[in-house]
Amino acid sequence: MKHATMVIDGKPVAGAATREAVNPYSGQVWARIPDASADEVDRAVESAQRAFRETWRRTPGVERARLMLALADALEAEADSMARMESTDNGKIIRETRPQMTFAARNLRFFAGYADKLYGRTIPLDNPSLFDYTRRRPYGVAALITAWNSPIGLLANKLPPALATGNTVVVKPSEHASVTTCELARLACEVGFPPGVVNVITGGPQAGEALISHPGVSKISFTGGSATGTRIAEAAARRLVPVTLELGGKSPNIIFDDADLDRAIVGAVSGIFAAAGQTCVAGSRLLVQRPVYDEVVAAIAERAAGIRLGDPLDPATEMGPVANEPQYQRILGLIEAARGDGATLVAGGGPATGFGAGLFVAPTVFADVAPDMRVATEEVFGPVLSIIPFDDEDDAVRIANGIDYGLAAAVWSRNIDRVHRVVEQLEVGAVWVNTYRSTAAQAPFGGIKRSGYGRERGEDALAEYTYTQNVMIDYSGAARDPFVIRT
Ligand code: NAD
Repeated sequence: MKHATMVIDGKPVAGAATREAVNPYSGQVWARIPDASADEVDRAVESAQRAFRETWRRTPGVERARLMLALADALEAEADSMARMESTDNGKIIRETRPQMTFAARNLRFFAGYADKLYGRTIPLDNPSLFDYTRRRPYGVAALITAWNSPIGLLANKLPPALATGNTVVVKPSEHASVTTCELARLACEVGFPPGVVNVITGGPQAGEALISHPGVSKISFTGGSATGTRIAEAAARRLVPVTLELGGKSPNIIFDDADLDRAIVGAVSGIFAAAGQTCVAGSRLLVQRPVYDEVVAAIAERAAGIRLGDPLDPATEMGPVANEPQYQRILGLIEAARGDGATLVAGGGPATGFGAGLFVAPTVFADVAPDMRVATEEVFGPVLSIIPFDDEDDAVRIANGIDYGLAAAVWSRNIDRVHRVVEQLEVGAVWVNTYRSTAAQAPFGGIKRSGYGRERGEDALAEYTYTQNVMIDYSGAARDPFVIRT
């Protein structure tokens, strides 16, 4: 049994109260995680405030970078065990959690490169006796709250830009998958981050609420559901704290009749069945142009039926269980709703049996889905695909944009003119063309509409963790009229 510990002020904290972490493959309790008290949240924020004022904001960028690079090395050195823990905690296959650890290290290195290059600007003014320049300042204590589907992957979008720009952090992972985040904070202590720079508290919504409403928190970055994101934005608005929100999606994956269908079908399978559909960018709405509709539906139904389900720790497994019981029940409920609404089931359609207590849902494909059915408008966050036919470009764009979410979309076509025309009209933060779920440390990521606001990864992320401070210096040495603004 693993006993995870929070990290507050550079020290492990077991917490007075704990909760069980259940392995969704075996159904067994495999770890205990602390449930942070209000006092522990206070201590974490106070420690982060102290570290910000006394240490981290004065630490030269080159030193911040050195520690971030050391953390990247430490994470890579422990990537195998970190990946095993994450797969045990949330059921995601090791085939994906292992490369996610490497990608997290890549993000740390990418942003470490900026830590000593946070340049301001020198701004020429009308008045030659006024010298003006800008600085990029960290906010202070950043609260980083993540979801359970990719604890380290999601944190790797937040922690590196926050630290590189000179903020200190209090991280709160999901109560459904906390262990690897605690381990990452342990590594941060081991490589020499000063106490208080990286704190982790664990627990559920109560701990999250205590964190975001703490007066010592100056920036919030949240990844999770849109309903929670709305509550967090409301709480942040009361204190006027800037927020980055990475929320849910219902992403359209659009296959035109001139696409390379073999590649498009692989893209569609990857879009919805990778991570058992538990990704914010899941291509859960597959829009297919009518001339190739039947062929695509048949091919995807066949691929779905052949997906190898099993132990997430087995490198041969293609799809593991879903991560937790509430999620499992929600997915099955939406499958029933789709049946009730008259969608045509062509693969799966319920629990996958033969896995004991494992929370397995069969890869499920509905065809002839109407764009306004629940299964086509609500985020399922599971291995459930809705296939919707369309006639032409206008029809595809209308269906693609006709929902509240705006996270990602993909276009499959060999016609470059068409690709540009369609991309131009898609109301989403991320578009893929002839690929799906491709990612890079350099490429900004985030949504619009109910998918949130702000950007992670890439240079854009630096702006989320800094404010511009303008400095104006009068070097004329001359007396001035005190009652007139100086320009
Ligand atoms: P969730 O919103 O239930 O929880 C997310 C986190 O918020 C958890 O740590 C939780 O403890 C905390 N939390 C819950 N209520 C809170 C409150 N009132 N105040 C402060 N913190 C609170 O989401 P989830 O079920 O963990 O994750 C699934 C959702 O996350 C899906 O909607 C998915 O699309 C989204 N997600 C988005 C992205 C993205 O980058 N856009 C990535 C992954 C997941």
